[in-house]
Amino acid sequence: MAKRRIAVIPGDGIGPEITDATLSILEATGFEAEWVFLEAGLGAIEKYGDAMPQQTVDAVREIGVALKGPTTTPSGGGHVSANVRLRKALDLFANVRPAHTLPGIKGPFADKAIDIIIVRENTEDLYAGIEFQPHPDMAQAIKVITRPGSRRLCEYGFDMAKRQGRKRVTAVHKANIMKMTDGMFLEEFYKVAKSYPELQADDIIVDNCCMQLVTRPERFDVLVTENLYGDIVSDLCAGLVGGLGLAPGANIGKDCAVFEAVHGSAPDIAGKGVANPTALLFSALMMLRYLGDNERADRISNSVIRVCGDGKCLTMDLGGKASTDEFKVEVIHQAGAGAGIRVED
Ligand code: NAD
Repeated sequence: MAKRRIAVIPGDGIGPEITDATLSILEATGFEAEWVFLEAGLGAIEKYGDAMPQQTVDAVREIGVALKGPTTTPSGGGHVSANVRLRKALDLFANVRPAHTLPGIKGPFADKAIDIIIVRENTEDLYAGIEFQPHPDMAQAIKVITRPGSRRLCEYGFDMAKRQGRKRVTAVHKANIMKMTDGMFLEEFYKVAKSYPELQADDIIVDNCCMQLVTRPERFDVLVTENLYGDIVSDLCAGLVGGLGLAPGANIGKDCAVFEAVHGSAPDIAGKGVANPTALLFSALMMLRYLGDNERADRISNSVIRVCGDGKCLTMDLGGKASTDEFKVEVIHQAGAGAGIRVED
C-alpha cells in the first residue's frame, strides 16, 4: 500500500531542529509516511521574496495534512506573516490549542489539574490584515467579524467539546465595549449552544478571563474565542502549564489541517541544539489523532509524560540540561521500552 503523504514545513530558527526530532520519534514508533518537504520562512524570503511561497500553499492544499515548524515574521515593513497567509489561503478557520499540566513540570500551577482547550478563530478579526494610514500621524486597522465565521467556529468548538466528552464551553469576548463585532460573535455562540444541551455554555469578558486564568485556571474547560484574544490567551495558558516549549496547536479547515506549535522560531536559541521539541511533537500527536492513529498518539504521549515525570532528561526551558537530541532519544527509548520496539540510540 502506498504510504500516506504528509507535507512538512520545517520553517526557520529552531524549526528544522525540532522538526527533525519530531519526525525521528514518529518514525521510531513505526509511523510510516512519505514526508513532502516544503519551503517557508526566512529561507523562502531570501530565495523567492515570499515567506509563504504559492507552491508551498498549493502543495499543502493538495496533500491536505501538514506538520509545520515555526517561521519568523520580520516586524514592520512589508512582510506578511507566513502563518497568516497559509491559514487564510487554506481557510483554516479553527486554531485548537490545548494546555494541560504534565507531571514533573515545575511552576506556580504544578499542583493544579489544568486541562484547557482554546478554540481560536483563525481568519478574521484584526488579523484580516486591513490596515491603512490616512495621515502620516495616524494608522488604522479594521476588525472584521462575520456571522458565518463566528458560527462555524462556535459549531466546531461545541462539536469538538462533545466529541471529547468535555463539560463546559465558555465564550471569551469584549462585547461590553465592542458591541457590534464581539456582540455578533456572542450572539452566534449562544445560538449554536442551543444545539448542545449536554454542554454547559457561558461567557466571560477577556480581561476577567485573564485574571481568573492566573488565579483559578482549573475552573476552565473549553474556551471559544476570536483571533486576537485567542492568540494572547493561548500563550497565557501555555505559561500556566510549563511554557511555550510544551504548547501544541492545530489549524483546522474543511478539507485541510496544519499542525504546528504555539511558539515561534525562538531566534535566541536557534542552532544551539537546546530547543524543546515537545510542542511540535504534541502537535504531531494531534495530527496522528486527526488521521485516526490514536493508539500511537497515546503511546508517544505516555512516553513524554514518563520522561517529564522522571525529570532526569528535561530541556533547558523546563529547568533541565538535556539537549534536543538527548530528549528525543529518551522519548524514543521510553516509547520503545513500553512497546517492545527496537531502538537504535
Ligand atoms: P518565540 O515563541 O519564538 O520565543 C519566545 C521565548 O520562548 C524565547 O525565549 C524562546 O527561546 C522560548 N521558546 C520558544 N519555543 C521554545 C522551545 N520549543 N524550546 C525552548 N524555548 C522556546 O516568540 P518570539 O521571540 O516573540 O518570536 C520569534 C519569531 O517567531 C517572530 O518573528 C514571530 O513573528 C515568530 N512566530 C512564529 C510563529 C509560528 O510560526 N507559528 C508563532 C509565533 C511567533
